[in-house]
This record gives sequence, structure tokens and C-alpha cells, in this order.
Amino acid sequence: MSDGDGTGKTGSRTLAIHAGDDHGRGNRPSAPDIVMSSTFVVDQQVGFSANNLTDDTPWMYTRWGNPTTAELEAKLAALEGAEAGLAFATGMAATTALLFHVLGKGDHLVMANTNYPGTAEFARETLGRYGVELTTVNTTSLDKLRQAMRPETRLVWLETPSNPLLRIADIAEASAIAKEHGALLAVDSTFATPVATRPIELGADFVVHSLTKFMGGHGDAMGGSVCGSAKHLAGLRSEGLSHFGGVISPFNAWLIIRGLATLELRMQAHEANALAIAEFLEAHPNVERVLYPGLESHPQHALAAKQMDNYSGMLSFRVEDPEALAARMMQELEVIHYAVSLGHHRSLVYLMKTDELAHTSYALEGDELEAYVDAAGDGLFRLSVGIENVEDLIADLDRVL
Ligand SMILES: *Cc1c(COP(=O)(O)O)cnc(C)c1O
Repeated sequence: MSDGDGTGKTGSRTLAIHAGDDHGRGNRPSAPDIVMSSTFVVDQQVGFSANNLTDDTPWMYTRWGNPTTAELEAKLAALEGAEAGLAFATGMAATTALLFHVLGKGDHLVMANTNYPGTAEFARETLGRYGVELTTVNTTSLDKLRQAMRPETRLVWLETPSNPLLRIADIAEASAIAKEHGALLAVDSTFATPVATRPIELGADFVVHSLTKFMGGHGDAMGGSVCGSAKHLAGLRSEGLSHFGGVISPFNAWLIIRGLATLELRMQAHEANALAIAEFLEAHPNVERVLYPGLESHPQHALAAKQMDNYSGMLSFRVEDPEALAARMMQELEVIHYAVSLGHHRSLVYLMKTDELAHTSYALEGDELEAYVDAAGDGLFRLSVGIENVEDLIADLDRVL
């Protein structure tokens, strides 16, 4: 039951509930239990180096492995159709551990030029200090991606759909380009979730999530994950978890396990609400532009339709005077929370100002800056559509628009 080999024999809703739950001995609890213990009573001497840990090493110390965390990791791997999964304290802990693990001095990283701001800033500022070369590229263009590749390119990093423009990257094509150049491909699939897209099946080597978002789904636990091959993840476990130390609390792992049980049902509700709101906004006279992969007006709707089984709950929109609307939202919204983050059961909206993102986080210039401003104007409202009654959400938006 816990193998989750991605052949599709066991359904994803079954896997989300059952995968990885057989980590005990004898009669096991029906519902997931939480093992909060930081250490484990040992009845025979076990080596003390993280380098010698294997999947068969008995539980020793929660930074090296924990039964509750292992249940979450098995579920993540099963849902992504990957050999293995690792859970981290946050999405950024997962992202930075993977980037530090894969890249070294003299390596070249190709990354999307608009993505999660924390990832963009880390790649440019921190990795640069460690001698990693970075090229950022508009990954909606396969030609531009191909041109960015060099002999030293070790990793390509995509985010799809991406922050905040909801750009879609073609994972299968990008994987072919990466392979041609002997590089690995990582995909931040936080906005999509495995309900929509399974990057490993499309050729990615790593799939990264902020579990804080749709996967946990309730806005009450931070977490992150990397899924991939058993070989790659064994090295990442010893270096990125045991040594860097950004492990998830078993309590948060347990909350996210509970969230995963309803992931597919929630994603269906997120998508249905988001589509209805995207259509409402697109028809609203005070809205200049709506970006949602499920709308025919989305520049890459055809690719989204091919690559996504669910258009997810994230949309962005633009109005003439974003500052004034943000001020009204903070005062007058009754259902939707004016707050950062996304993927919760409740709806969240936030103004992503172009000055802060395009200039500070992404350092865009020339044509790429123009393309960003063309889509985003002075700023985009990023709306994470929750699973409330959609009429209440539309009434809330109509009141402030
Ligand atoms: C939130 C987010 C992250 C970072 O995750 P945290 O859990 O906040 O550290 C990374 N990528 C994307 C796409 C995100 O939305």
C-alpha cells in the first residue's frame, strides 16, 4: 500500500489517505498518530554519522528521521509518482537545501526570471556569494531557455504556474532541453499540486513544494518538500536535512497529513470557485486584466489545458489604481482576508507591487521588464481563492471594486 509507484493502480485520493501509514508493528492505529519524541530508545549501538544512515536504520533522532514525518514523506512521494520524498520545515528550507546540495562553485543555474521572490533573491544574492553563476530567463520561451544553457549548467529551476503572473512552463520540453545539456530539472509545483501536474512523470528530476500552501491547505502549519529519485534524495537527506537541519516538526507533519486527505476534494472546489471569480472579474468594468490559466484569455491556456488536470485556485488581476483598491480591501473586505500566502481553505488577497517585485526581487531589464509591466501594470492583486461559497466571495469583491 505504501509503494506508490506512480503506475496509477491505486487512486490518488486513496494514496493521500493510506500511503505510508504502516510504519508501526502489530496492530496499528487507524488514524495517523504523532510521534513528537526528539530521540528514540536504542537497544543496539548504531553509528553516529548522518552519512551512514539508510532507510533501514532504526529511528534514532528526529533530525535524522521520525515515523510521523516518514508517513508524510511516503504520501508526498506516492502523490507525485516519485521514488522518494523529503519533508522540510518550510518551502524555503526545501528550496535552499536542494539548491545548496545540487550546486557548487563554478556551476551554472538557469532559473525562471519571475517566480517566488524568496527563491529569486536567494539564487541571485546568496548562491552568487558561493560562486554559482545564474542566468534568469523567461521560461515560457523554449528558445530562450535553450539559449541560456551552457556546458556548466547543472540545474534548471522552473515554477509553474508562477508567481505572480501565473506563467506556465512546459515541463516535458524543458526536461528534454535539460537532458540534452546534461543538467537536472527542478520544478516548484506549489501552485499546481500533484492534483494538477506531476512533474516527475513529465521528466523532472525534483519536484518542490511549499506544503504551507495547498498541500497542508488550512493555513496552520508550515512545511516544505522535495520529491525525486531514491538516489538523489539519499544525499539530500543526509546533507540537506541532517546537516542543514531544517526538519519539519512532527506536529506540523501530522497537520499536513490531515490536510492531504482532502487535497483532491479541496482542489476541485478551489478550481471551481477560481474559474467563477475569474469570469466575474474579467467581465467587471473596473478590472483591466485577469490572469488565470483556466481562462481562454490566458496567453498559455492551451499549454495549461495539456499540462494541468486542475487549474488550481490562484489568479491575478489588475485595476487602474491598485493602491486605492488595496486600501479599500483592508478596510472593507468581510470574507476575504487581506494577507500574504495562499492555498488555504479561506480566500486571501494581496497587492504585489511591480516596483518591489520586478525591480527588487527579479532585477528585470529591457524587454523582460517591459513584458512584466505590460502584464502587471503598477501591481497585481494575487487572489488565492478559497473554498467558501463563491457567491459570498463575489459579493465581497464586488463591494470593493
Ligand atoms: C510560499 C512559497 C514558497 C516558500 O514556502 P514557505 O513555506 O513560505 O517557506 C516557495 N515557492 C512558492 C511557489 C511559494 O508559493
